[in-house]
Amino acid sequence: MTLLRHYINGKWQESASGRVREIRSPHDQHVVVQATEGNLTDVLNAIEAAHTTFESGIFRSWSWQDRQSLLLRIADLIERDADIYAKAESGDTAKRLIEAEYDIADVISVFRFNATLKEPGHSVDIGRLEIESRIAYEPVGVCALIGPWNYPLLQISWKVAPALLAGCSFIVKPSELSPSTAVLLMHTLTEAGVPAGVANLILGAGSEVGTPLTSDPRVDLISFTGGLATGRAIMASAARTVKKVALELGGKNPNIIFADADIDAAIDNAVTAGFLHSGQVCSAGTRLLVEASIHDRVVDELVRRADEITLGGPDNEAAETGPLISEGHLNKVLGYIERAVKEGATLRVGGKRALAPGLEAGWYIEPTVFDGCSTEMASVQEESFGPIITVETFTTEEEAIALGNDTIYGLSGAVWSADLGRCDRVAAGLRHGTIWINDYGPYRPEAEWGGFKASGVGRELGGSGLHEYLEAKHLWRNTSPGRSGWFRDSGHP
Ligand code: NAP
Repeated sequence: MTLLRHYINGKWQESASGRVREIRSPHDQHVVVQATEGNLTDVLNAIEAAHTTFESGIFRSWSWQDRQSLLLRIADLIERDADIYAKAESGDTAKRLIEAEYDIADVISVFRFNATLKEPGHSVDIGRLEIESRIAYEPVGVCALIGPWNYPLLQISWKVAPALLAGCSFIVKPSELSPSTAVLLMHTLTEAGVPAGVANLILGAGSEVGTPLTSDPRVDLISFTGGLATGRAIMASAARTVKKVALELGGKNPNIIFADADIDAAIDNAVTAGFLHSGQVCSAGTRLLVEASIHDRVVDELVRRADEITLGGPDNEAAETGPLISEGHLNKVLGYIERAVKEGATLRVGGKRALAPGLEAGWYIEPTVFDGCSTEMASVQEESFGPIITVETFTTEEEAIALGNDTIYGLSGAVWSADLGRCDRVAAGLRHGTIWINDYGPYRPEAEWGGFKASGVGRELGGSGLHEYLEAKHLWRNTSPGRSGWFRDSGHP
């Protein structure tokens, strides 16, 4: 059985703790791989390696063009090994192999896109001929890059690609549940020529290795993707040493269908938005808001479609979606279902653990639709991160916008209508980081991704994603120095 190890200062290392974790398939509990279990000593070693390497200047002294070429080499190597990556990702998460293949293709695009970004910097016209004023951008320093388990490598790639382009050193901390592809990435980075100590990897539980990563004064930036509670803890921890934080947190995303929409397309997309990856998607369309006049038609069809979804493991070609990541997560989602029933929501389909033959050993939940929901319900407000769609109704455009904003989150949302003026008004009114009009789900590495309100701080992807890893420095050069003349000078004795 393969043992995954830390990667610190260019060397593969077992944990000082001597402990080993078994990564089990969420589909049938077989042990996929073993991973060394990190502790404080390992984290401090990794931070020291990243810090020393950054201070040495060995990587930030590379030209911008050389780092762009590096990203292209990394993309080519991942493409060469795409099958290995996809199998590893599918193994840890039990997502269907085809979904893992899409994810790895997206990872490659992320590296290629970042390679196109030009070195930022500009001059400022001060209006004085003797002054040259320039804004230069420098790497932020040592970064802690902490990722979730739902799209393990993709979320890490959104951080690693701009961190490398900027010239930072970093420590990657993948989820303890899905570390395999982060380990593969370290092999790829090394093969592509990333100097030892620039890219480091720590394995282990967030509760043990997370806190030292987010509180050490040598770490300059934390880029975190994960849940709201962890995000809050990280922000508090970072405050002590005033680190920069970039947080990609959860969502409770409204999917708004008006009566004049292409109903067939809207329902089909609503099914995908809610049940893709069994709802374990930060931008999942978990809140369906339907204009009252089409409510019955939309909900009946949504229920019929949800009931038809085939669940199954990564190798089941008939499966349309897979299991939840862990028993703990399964129980959390079942808890939300129980709560929705208690709150008075009408269970229309699903609502149970799926235990059909072949699924008994896995963490499967039936695609679930609750009707008659309202924003007072915890099941409408809190992110379950499972295959649950709640349905609310509205009668006016203003009401749709107000409902869509009645959440602490602000990650994404969608509006469906044939009236494009209305679509634009609703899109403008919604306080979410991405709004799809007559569509649901696409994202592009060229376009900024991130959340309003409690969905996060900062942006990934696009040009802004790079800027999280840069510090602006204002350089002021006086070509004709003179006295300031501010204070009275009575002359030297
Ligand atoms: P999570 O429980 O918050 O964990 C995320 C990462 O943080 C994991 O690597 C975890 O390690 C680590 N961690 C846990 N406690 C920590 C601590 N005290 N200090 C530092 N790191 C710590 O989230 P998750 O369950 O993996 O992911 C699901 C969440 O991610 C959902 O809320 C989803 O919406 C969000 N998400 C957001 C986006 C976006 O773009 N906005 C994208 C994907 C996912 P362990 O796993 O080893 O404990």
